[in-house]
Amino acid sequence: MADYQTFEHDVLVIGSGGAGLRAAIEASATGVSVGLVCKCLLGKAHTVMAEGGIAAALANVDDRDNWKVHFADTMRGGQYVNNWRMAELHAREAPARVRELEAWGAVFDRTPDGRILQRNFGGHKYPRLAHVGDRTGLEMLRTLQDHGVHQGIDVHMECTILTLLKEGDRVVGAFGYEREKGTFRVYRAKAVVLATGGIGRAFKITSNSWDCTGDGHSLAYHAGAELIDMEFVQFHPTGMVWPPSVCGILVTEGVRGEGGVLRNSEGKRFMFGDIPENYRSQTADNEEEGWRYTQGDRDARRPPELLTRDHVARCIVREIKEGRGSPHGGVFLDISWIRKKLSNASEHIKRKLPSMYHQFKQLANIDITAEAMEVGPTTHYIMGGIRVDADTQMSRLPGLFAAGECAAGINGANRLGGNSLSDLLVFGKRAGEYAAQFSRENKTGVVNPGQIEETVSEALESFNRGSKGSAADGNPYEIQYELQRFMQDLVGIVRKETEMTEAIDRITELWIRSKSVAAHGNRQYNPAWHTALDLRSLLTVSEAITVSALNRKESRGGHYRDDYPQKDPALGKLNVVVWKGRDGTIQVRHEPLPEMPDELKGIIEEMK
Ligand SMILES: Cc1cc2nc3c(=O)[nH]c(=O)nc-3n(C[C@H](O)[C@H](O)[C@H](O)COP(=O)(O)OP(=O)(O)OC[C@H]3O[C@@H](n4cnc5c(N)ncnc54)[C@H](O)[C@@H]3O)c2cc1C
Repeated sequence: MADYQTFEHDVLVIGSGGAGLRAAIEASATGVSVGLVCKCLLGKAHTVMAEGGIAAALANVDDRDNWKVHFADTMRGGQYVNNWRMAELHAREAPARVRELEAWGAVFDRTPDGRILQRNFGGHKYPRLAHVGDRTGLEMLRTLQDHGVHQGIDVHMECTILTLLKEGDRVVGAFGYEREKGTFRVYRAKAVVLATGGIGRAFKITSNSWDCTGDGHSLAYHAGAELIDMEFVQFHPTGMVWPPSVCGILVTEGVRGEGGVLRNSEGKRFMFGDIPENYRSQTADNEEEGWRYTQGDRDARRPPELLTRDHVARCIVREIKEGRGSPHGGVFLDISWIRKKLSNASEHIKRKLPSMYHQFKQLANIDITAEAMEVGPTTHYIMGGIRVDADTQMSRLPGLFAAGECAAGINGANRLGGNSLSDLLVFGKRAGEYAAQFSRENKTGVVNPGQIEETVSEALESFNRGSKGSAADGNPYEIQYELQRFMQDLVGIVRKETEMTEAIDRITELWIRSKSVAAHGNRQYNPAWHTALDLRSLLTVSEAITVSALNRKESRGGHYRDDYPQKDPALGKLNVVVWKGRDGTIQVRHEPLPEMPDELKGIIEEMK
């Protein structure tokens, strides 16, 4: 251990997105020492890409909104397999977290009377998303970062954590490498918070940034924590489809929230033919009413383009499969039509959706104020993740906490837009608070040098294989690409048993091949080596998703099975849980959801 640089903190937060920064701020505010380690540069975490807004029942635009409506919307969106306690805490606490962010300097868009403006989004009954144009994530991260750096948090940038260090069951630190220099680091901590974000890079088409490789899910799984809901992956209905180099980049739901409509190649608004029975009373059945809703009309019903994401994504896939798609394999999303309604439509679009305007102008040479965009589904978000206690965010391993996209529970089978940014704030704060408390109540643990040596030898193995004369010389990029391709095709938007079984076989084969990949050159900023190291996380989460999806024999939320297209009420009462068995193989079980208190059941009934 003497060979490695060692750092010691009371609380170590892994990940500098919204969840990690909020956790670090909270822990540090209690007076404990905090280290924040991230694979990326500070300020570059994926949260920066969030566009549409933060969901919180502030009731600034519609005074009928309150936490109960937000709670009921979140549970309905999650098809009632959410952790009810997390959904309750989230709905109750989100408004305070947003106001706090404003007090720390976030400059939100404003209502005419100067309050935080809120916009409509799919599945939210009232306009609820506090936003900053379509750059909300950027403003959120900037604000948290500005606030955090003044609190004395130690930041360790461009360092990838490879393993969690344990003493018995307890997590007592983490071990990783500096991406730039290739040298190893030991982090000793009394408590560790995982805030490593999503898994989008396990799929070929994704809106997620390069570091969303499911590392936190994988670190927790290999350390002995449980993962739940991994079958629930959200495919956002609108990503760019053209040109190929930008395929998957998100087209925010804010476009539809501001009046954008979906049409097929015949010019038909196909979503009008696809309103599920349970949404009929809330959904407009004519264009005029849908437009009034996007203008914040209290009594209008929402346009069908704002139905839940899984539903809209499947309708788009159907249009494409049945030959009514756009020239590059998507459908049309048109906001330019609002010129018929607004004299200043062009300025309005540029003001409300500046990033979208520039994104299409620069990347696809399309002027969205005058032309329709081409869009198709993209892998966007995972509802599943590390199983945590709702109040404290601690996993089943003492000292290991998780928050943000890598933790599970709040979203159930599907997340409503805007509920991630509020989740990061609410549960990031809670994770930081309880990790700090744990660190005050426990001494620094003992790090096992054997565990470190084993990790180092595994991490450097690919260099030995890359040496001259070595027989094995697998290419990490090939394995990564192959995995992404078949995960998209076999475990994507529409799933079935035969294809997922094939995916399991292919994952098993890639596990074997991953043990023979070779890295060449030296350890200083070596992308092939980094890719080889990422494979463990990508394969772990892919296996967890596929095993969980095979075990949920029904369709619900983000999980759609061609061979079981209906919901099964019995499975609607269960979580699928996976964990690493003693023999190192993945284990799975169904577990009943915790019973919801009558008071909350009453709220859901009332809102129906
Ligand atoms: C284009 C886009 C737009 C979106 N818009 C919205 C929106 O409007 N509203 C909304 O609610 N949600 C939105 N989302 C979802 C939301 O942005 C994410 O779910 C959320 O930002 C995740 O935040 P996080 O803090 O959990 O993780 P991230 O922001 O992904 O941060 C993860 C951090 O962990 C670090 N990390 C990862 N692995 C390691 C490792 N092994 N070692 C060290 N560090 C590691 C990363 O470098 C990074 O710093 C959007 C998503 C996308 C892709």
